Amino acid sequence: LNVNQYLRERIRTVPDWPTPGVQFRDITPLLQEPKTFRVLIDAFVHRYMDRDLRPDVIAGLDARGFIIGAVLAFELGVGFVPIRKKGKLPFTTVAETYELEYGSATVELHTDAVQPGDRVLLVDDLIATGGTMMAGRRLLERLGAHVSEGAAIVDLPELGGSQRLRESGLPLFTLVDFS
Ligand code: 5GP
Repeated sequence: LNVNQYLRERIRTVPDWPTPGVQFRDITPLLQEPKTFRVLIDAFVHRYMDRDLRPDVIAGLDARGFIIGAVLAFELGVGFVPIRKKGKLPFTTVAETYELEYGSATVELHTDAVQPGDRVLLVDDLIATGGTMMAGRRLLERLGAHVSEGAAIVDLPELGGSQRLRESGLPLFTLVDFS
């Protein structure tokens, strides 16, 4: 089974959403079909079960990173922590603001979500400009954790985010590229 091709064929492209000119890569069909969901999660489990790559904690990015990250954490037997959009977490938080094409966004993390020295795998569904993953990484590093890798289902390499993240020293693992 060619996992890249198998998943690529099942990702739905929605033209002009959420705004004209954007081709939105919709990963919900991968979750809806049980066999596909299994193929998707197993691709990550296979990599991160390896004793050299197994994280102490998985941090998932709001909101589709929660789905992949939580299931992967459960399968690996490690904890899961959510990085949420501003205003959703009840306890004390650290926050990072980053620039979007129009405006900015803020993400937050509970201050006790990770411990200094933890090896954290940061998970999202897709990397576009890389801004979201970079902000998540900064939150984790401010708490003293080490982000060992970023993982996502989809990379959009033409937007340059994955290259910037790698150049900044963050290893990345993605399953499908779309140009
Ligand atoms: P970035 O911060 O890398 O520019 O954008 C990535 C974030 O936006 C991720 O949290 C991702 O969920 C969301 N995102 C942006 N474009 C798409 C897309 O085409 N499909 C999906 N599924 N998510 C997207």
